[in-house]
Amino acid sequence: MQTTTRVAIIGGGVVGCSVLYHLTKLGWADVMLLERSELTSGSTWHAAGGFHTLNGDTNMAALQGYTIKLYRELEKLTGLSCGLHHVGAVTLADNQDRFDMLVAERAKHRYMGLETTIIGPEEIAKIAPVTNVEGVIGGLYDPLDGHLDPSGTTHAYAKAARMGGATIETNCKVSETNQRPDGTWNVVTDKGTIHAEHVVNAAGLWAREVGAMANIYFPLLPMEHQYLITEEVPEIAAIADAGGEHPGVTDLSGESYLRQESRGLCIGFYEQRCRPWAVNGTPWNFGQELLPDDFDKIEDSIAFAYKRFPALERSGIKSVIHGPFTFAPDGNPLVGPVPGMRNYWSACAVMAGFSQGGGVGLSLAQWMVEGEPERDVFAMDCARFGKWVTSGYTIPKVIENYQRRFSVTFPNEELPAARGVRKTPMYETFNQMGAVWGADFGLEVPNYFAKGNEPGFETPSFRRSNAWSAIAREVNAVRSSVGINEVHNFSKFLITGQNSRSWLDRIMAGRIPEPGRLALNPMLSHKGRLIGDFTVSCISEEKFQLTASYASQNFHHRWFTQNIDEGVHIENISDRRNGFQIAGPRAVEVLQECTDFKVDSLKFLDLIEITVGSTDCLVQRVSYTGDQGFEIYCDVMAQQSLWNTLWTAGQPYGMTPFGMRAMMSLRLDRFFGSWMSEFSPDYTAAETGLDRFISFKKNADFIGRPVAEAERASPPERQLVVFEVDALEADIVSYEPVFINDEVMGYCTSGGFSHHSKKSIAFALVPRASVTDDLTVEIEILGQRRKAKRILEQLL
Ligand SMILES: Cc1cc2nc3c(=O)[nH]c(=O)nc-3n(C[C@H](O)[C@H](O)[C@H](O)COP(=O)(O)OP(=O)(O)OC[C@H]3O[C@@H](n4cnc5c(N)ncnc54)[C@H](O)[C@@H]3O)c2cc1C
Repeated sequence: MQTTTRVAIIGGGVVGCSVLYHLTKLGWADVMLLERSELTSGSTWHAAGGFHTLNGDTNMAALQGYTIKLYRELEKLTGLSCGLHHVGAVTLADNQDRFDMLVAERAKHRYMGLETTIIGPEEIAKIAPVTNVEGVIGGLYDPLDGHLDPSGTTHAYAKAARMGGATIETNCKVSETNQRPDGTWNVVTDKGTIHAEHVVNAAGLWAREVGAMANIYFPLLPMEHQYLITEEVPEIAAIADAGGEHPGVTDLSGESYLRQESRGLCIGFYEQRCRPWAVNGTPWNFGQELLPDDFDKIEDSIAFAYKRFPALERSGIKSVIHGPFTFAPDGNPLVGPVPGMRNYWSACAVMAGFSQGGGVGLSLAQWMVEGEPERDVFAMDCARFGKWVTSGYTIPKVIENYQRRFSVTFPNEELPAARGVRKTPMYETFNQMGAVWGADFGLEVPNYFAKGNEPGFETPSFRRSNAWSAIAREVNAVRSSVGINEVHNFSKFLITGQNSRSWLDRIMAGRIPEPGRLALNPMLSHKGRLIGDFTVSCISEEKFQLTASYASQNFHHRWFTQNIDEGVHIENISDRRNGFQIAGPRAVEVLQECTDFKVDSLKFLDLIEITVGSTDCLVQRVSYTGDQGFEIYCDVMAQQSLWNTLWTAGQPYGMTPFGMRAMMSLRLDRFFGSWMSEFSPDYTAAETGLDRFISFKKNADFIGRPVAEAERASPPERQLVVFEVDALEADIVSYEPVFINDEVMGYCTSGGFSHHSKKSIAFALVPRASVTDDLTVEIEILGQRRKAKRILEQLL
């Protein structure tokens, strides 16, 4: 057996083989896959082989589209059949919320170039005749959907990889992964030890065990899953005899997916009475075997399916497939460089290997070979979970995700499982004040505060929610007097050491401020993509605080450590430093009540370390709400004390606590973009206007500079523009298509209702060539095209 390799991929399921193939495709031929048994020996061999593009995350949907289109290419390349059946599929909606969701998905597909259509019950009955359309409002038809042969497809990936120079070692179990001091790996197998520069964990059902070999906890859990194959169904046999094939049907309310299998049907369920499998670890002796049939747990689902697909009731069951496959807490894969590790990569928790495996393989291979994936893959980045994730979090979240697989996902929805795992010291105080909570990177954050008769639960909706007036009240309080909230939604990093400034000059694209000042700073990748929008605060020449998105702290920390310099020390202090933001016309007076320092001597973007009440704080004159305001940071142990000081001082001024919903409304007036909406690795600084914070004057070769310079010389084709939308009862969320002269020319990055200006606002990327001061467009919201007019003047 070969004993050295550039990459050792552990696991020969569809995902490992896809990663192997894509590495060779991008030019790395010295790559090796190690499989403890034969290829497909985990979840892969018993998959139903269905594939589809539908995914709530647009980038995931695009990667699913890539995966599906890849199969023909693989067949051509290898001469092997993937057993493709591009029969199309329809997803059914039998209530308004489900229908709204499908219509919103269809809208996103417009600019993605996916040819989906919304069809009515009659059309559904025509193209999918085994469906009883009683009660069905409509459906989303996707001609790309279909099914394939799982084993044939995996072997096609494997053959394509071998053709590119890769080696596959089967019956070769990895028992240890030991890192050498130089960051490379000794991969110990029962056939000997392999020295690999990189390790990829693609061990599927055993990803947890393989991760533990390197002391890594992967938040994933296998779930049992069952599908049934019927005997011949006369209606299907008739279609087959006529040379046709019945399309797939996903019934959201029945939580089932159905398709033709030979002359019968295949139907699988995401049942509510679901069960995790091998919670404490996948046995090594689990082979190509199935779990015992279990009709009890799918009894209700079957009863429902009999009504939706009456032919099922008349046909006998030929076989039952019941097997395990893995899920992460949010159902998306865990992909990328594992934070805190060198040369260790994850390709785990891929719950839909035949929809997603190609995209996962492509993205990971790009990351390894080119340094970054071509698009924003945060939705599947393993850095989206922090060290705080334990099995106590993973298990209930995975169960919740399985049960909600076919549920409607609302933009304002907060999911109930595994809540309260992380709280700031303000939790009880805010709870008593009526906080209605959301979760951000596991942390409880107030969305708004319910006063009097205001609702203590925000109804999930695509339309304006029942929290509307509570949010309006909070916005009004900030704009007219003073509001207070925590700065928990920021990550905080402390940068110290003699080379801090020069390091920041290289890592950040903007100007690094002098002591006592702060500056907004885009952070760019080598390809010039936006990978952060930071506030850089210079406390002293060798001490800086960086703040950015709380949820992206692992993502950013990983980048910092990958690009560290000598003489720089980086600490993630996000959970050790917290504090408050006070904002509004009375904010200066409130803060003045709490300190001897002359508060109004602080200019915009100044900072100072002073004592507020009895607490030592870092005070910054800046506010994301767009008002006069301050961010006041302190040690978390002193946070309650700081609260008492500020809250007491604020009472005569009518100080009001406000939550994230009000904050996201307030930012609209100033046209402030937000991270992962306007600012994400999908975009460059020049596309989103953040290039105004790039310092081209600075004498530093900052990462991404060549791309930024090139865009300065020749501006990119897209431009971020702000619109006032003639919206009715629903506002912009994201990815709604923008029509110019009846053609889809762009899409929204975010938006919402500005309670201050009483306008519905959209941020959208449109072709630069089309941008005029009075540009008028149409934006599709819940299936309706609404007029939108560009606005140039901020609304404050
Ligand atoms: C009943 C059922 C129906 C499904 N239907 C569909 C469907 O219709 N469409 C769809 O897209 N997905 C479906 N899936 C999910 C799909 O099976 C998985 O997404 C996919 O198989 C995951 O592939 P993988 O390569 O990540 O993992 P696995 O298939 O589990 O592969 C992991 C491999 O790693 C090997 N390995 C583990 N540890 C070691 C080690 N220490 N040394 C060497 N090798 C090791 C294993 O032997 C195994 O071959 C279904 C799953 C089930 C259970």
